[in-house]
Amino acid sequence: MKLLDGKMLSLELQTEIAAEVEAHVANGGRKPHLAAILIGDDPASKAYVGHKVKACAKAGFESSLIERKGNVSQEELLDIVRELNEDDSVDGFIVQLPLPAHIDNQAVIEAVKPSKDVDGFHPENVGRMALGLPTFLPATPGGIMTLLERNGVKTTGMHAVVIGRSDIVGNPMTSLLSRNSEPGNCTVTQCHSRTVDLKSHTLKADLIIAAVGRPHFLTADMVKEGAVVVDVGINSIEDSSRKSGRRLTGDVDFENVAEKCSLITPVPGGVGPMTIATLLQNTLRARLASKR
Ligand code: NAD
Repeated sequence: MKLLDGKMLSLELQTEIAAEVEAHVANGGRKPHLAAILIGDDPASKAYVGHKVKACAKAGFESSLIERKGNVSQEELLDIVRELNEDDSVDGFIVQLPLPAHIDNQAVIEAVKPSKDVDGFHPENVGRMALGLPTFLPATPGGIMTLLERNGVKTTGMHAVVIGRSDIVGNPMTSLLSRNSEPGNCTVTQCHSRTVDLKSHTLKADLIIAAVGRPHFLTADMVKEGAVVVDVGINSIEDSSRKSGRRLTGDVDFENVAEKCSLITPVPGGVGPMTIATLLQNTLRARLASKR
């Protein structure tokens, strides 16, 4: 078994991005600027946004964090989005999900200007992705494709099983893996909460993408010898050996599944850092595409 080391690759990508930024600035360009909107005080969301802001600084980007309390009104949030849409100093921005229950997620996503939608969630960008047109790929599936590519995983002809059908991971992952390109060219089976006999599908898979949100969900008896396993899950579980009493774990029973795999991502240090690197790539792209 070999690790698909997302942490190491994301550091390489961040160095490449930083070099591009330096060259752009040396040629008289402005630094890329990523803004993040964070609503409420969910500790996981705060941590994710914190990682993104830190990564921006390392890559030589400007970043702004716009925070509002969890009781922000939909109108106030939409006003912030509209301001960022019109702000020429901002190349791209994200609205950290999940949003509080009283906010209409879709209305917020659709209010983001597609050319600044570096999360790739706007329907226009989702449509472009589905058609294989140039666009911002959603950061997590985009990062997984880069992780496979840069580790020399040839996916053409593989039978891939994607577990999950969310708009941010499962659905775009299915779309990208079935593209007529390498990485891609997979025969994809998409499984979800209503799938009957999930194990009968996963046992046939050369590549499994687990995006369920349930700790240790994918167990060794569900995985074929030699499969490639990508664990998207980030779950906080109790761990009395830690000072905090908790630790992060994935959707895969890593210890036992790893023994059967040819390649597997760890959690942490697998998909998470690749998500951040892809967000930076998208923002740099937005900067370079912008005439401002
Ligand atoms: P989600 O809750 O929106 O989707 C989970 C999916 O799992 C659903 O589509 C559901 O149909 C499927 N599912 C639930 N129970 C199932 C079952 N018994 N059998 C088969 N499928 C089942 O979650 P999400 O936003 O897609 O995220 C999934 C996980 O990935 C979470 O742990 C999340 O924290 C993590 N995540 C990580 C990153 C990263 O950067 N590493 C990014 C996004 C999400």
